[in-house]
Amino acid sequence: MTVASQRAGWSRLPLRAAAFVVLTCATILGVSGWREWAARDAVLKGAETEMANVARSLTQHAEDSLDLLDSGVVGVVSRLEMDGAEPATIAKLRNLLEARKKAIARIHSLAIIDDQGNWLTSPGTIGSTLSDDAFFRHHQLSSKREPHVGHPVRSQLDGEWVVTLSRRFNKQDGSFGGVVLATISANYLAHFYEHFELGRNSSVALVHGDGMIIARNPSNDRFVGRSVADTPLFRDASLQQPGGAYHFRSPLDGAERVSFFKRSGRYPLVLLAMVDKAELLAPWRAAAISRMLYVLALVVLIAVIGAVLVRQLQRGQRMAAALVEKEAHFRLLAEGSSDMVTRIGLDERLRYVSPSSVRVVGWRPNQLIGTPALAGIHADDRPQVQALVDAMKRGEKDEARVTYRNAHRQNSEVWLESTMRVTRKENGNVDGVVAISRDITEQKKLETRLETLAIEDSLTGLANRRRFDERLKEEWARAYRDRSSLALLMIDVDHFKAYNDEYGHPAGDACLRVVAKVIAAEMQRAGDLAARYGGEEFAMLLPNTDAAGCARIGERIRRAIREAGLVHSTNHASGCVTASLGGAACRPALERTAGVGSLVEAADQALYAAKQGGRDRLMMSVEVASLLPKASGL
Ligand code: GH3
Ligand code: MG
Ligand code: MG
Repeated sequence: MTVASQRAGWSRLPLRAAAFVVLTCATILGVSGWREWAARDAVLKGAETEMANVARSLTQHAEDSLDLLDSGVVGVVSRLEMDGAEPATIAKLRNLLEARKKAIARIHSLAIIDDQGNWLTSPGTIGSTLSDDAFFRHHQLSSKREPHVGHPVRSQLDGEWVVTLSRRFNKQDGSFGGVVLATISANYLAHFYEHFELGRNSSVALVHGDGMIIARNPSNDRFVGRSVADTPLFRDASLQQPGGAYHFRSPLDGAERVSFFKRSGRYPLVLLAMVDKAELLAPWRAAAISRMLYVLALVVLIAVIGAVLVRQLQRGQRMAAALVEKEAHFRLLAEGSSDMVTRIGLDERLRYVSPSSVRVVGWRPNQLIGTPALAGIHADDRPQVQALVDAMKRGEKDEARVTYRNAHRQNSEVWLESTMRVTRKENGNVDGVVAISRDITEQKKLETRLETLAIEDSLTGLANRRRFDERLKEEWARAYRDRSSLALLMIDVDHFKAYNDEYGHPAGDACLRVVAKVIAAEMQRAGDLAARYGGEEFAMLLPNTDAAGCARIGERIRRAIREAGLVHSTNHASGCVTASLGGAACRPALERTAGVGSLVEAADQALYAAKQGGRDRLMMSVEVASLLPKASGL
């Protein structure tokens, strides 16, 4: 995998995580929803099965009831056809019919009707005729001998809704003799149906083949006699089968029902067992809602946690990207810089070294990483650097700049200037130091050179006049504090103008250099300072030296110059280069009025006196004072 594709994958991670969370939530919701729907289906299927069983057994019951009625009717028909409808026969049969009706509860009435539609046996309304009734006309017009089940009618007997089962009986000549009628009460059927517990909004209905309700439980009185002929059960071709499940919205009360219908094979009857869908599904709905609420809560929890995690992932990524960018900037700066950038851990080992280490200390970064950071520092400078690093590690200092000598792989030593800064963790604790080190060897050399130039005389290498003046002041102050003696020698080359004239200026310079060397050789103590005072005049500052010591050194110098053997033909007295010296010594602490200048003046006067005295000699200021009573008194 390439770095680019890895980065792309990394940047798409929050999106993928979010997609995963959404997918998880959707799956949980989907699976739960599907399971609930399956449970709902199972409830409906269970209800259908239950309704089917109810419908089958009630259809059977209806058929059995009509069979029972029919068996009575058949018996009466055969008696009438054998014995004729004579009043005597009718009278006997009436008793039989009464006995049967009493014996069998479900028989509402049993009656014989003559060919004109008049009751022969029945306790029907006196004078009423059945000639217009549908069942009567059916038998009158049809020679068929089968039983006929008529649609519900109100009984003439007591006004109750009844279903009629009737058969025609013939006279002996085969013509229409009348009808034997048996009825079963709708109330009886409805009461029977009460034994089946179907639920509050559920019902069982026996419907005639022409769509008229024969009996219904509950609310039999309200529904019996009503027609449902225009419902799909009677109109839809797909429902014209012996039986089946049937979901519909009731035209009577508008409620949705799950039902099973069963058509009788032998009679024009349809039994419809219905259960209210809302009532049926109510327990499932309540359980499903509580289960789905749990699932929903779970999904919301997952979504919230997911969202938090995705946000954290995004934040982490942004931080990582910022870090990478920071790192890239750091590297760009560190690696593009000619200075050596290093990162030092708390164990004082190098964690990072920029490539310019090759230029600065001669080692490649991989040779330095892991090594002690202060290892290359000059032993004399290390304590100072170590102290700074320690202070930074302790958090006492945030920044420091230090100059030190460091080992270089090829050139034995380089001067480095390091700017150090502590780095901190997010919690504020120091976790290391970043140092930017630059090679300042050239700068150091230049500084040293400038320092030297500032205090050294370029021709002779002795201290220059500036340096001499400074030191004179310092030594005067020190001598004052220490109550010690300070001495000064002024040395002037004799007839030097003549020397230049004779040998030329360059030779004069060379001569001055030799004289300077001779004088410098006489500096015996650390504090002694030989300086070129100006032109061919030199000075020697002698701390802690009294007049006698000064005189001794002066004399040595005078002799040494002379013994250097520099030929000077125009210096007629000796033929070689000589010098005159004036010396002065004093104890500054004892001088009330005199300052630095007085010592120089005294030495100068002594020098003047030496010149006057014939040159190539040393005169001390005390001697001068005795010669010149008006002098400063030193
Ligand atoms: P005296 O014995 O009285 O000191 O005589 P002098 O000639 O040494 O004294 P003067 O002050 O008259 O001359 C000093 C001469 O020193 C003048 C100058 O040409 C020479 N001189 C001063 N500085 C330098 C120098 O740096 N190089 C050379 N070659 N000559 C110098
Ligand atoms: Mg001079
Ligand atoms: Mg001179």
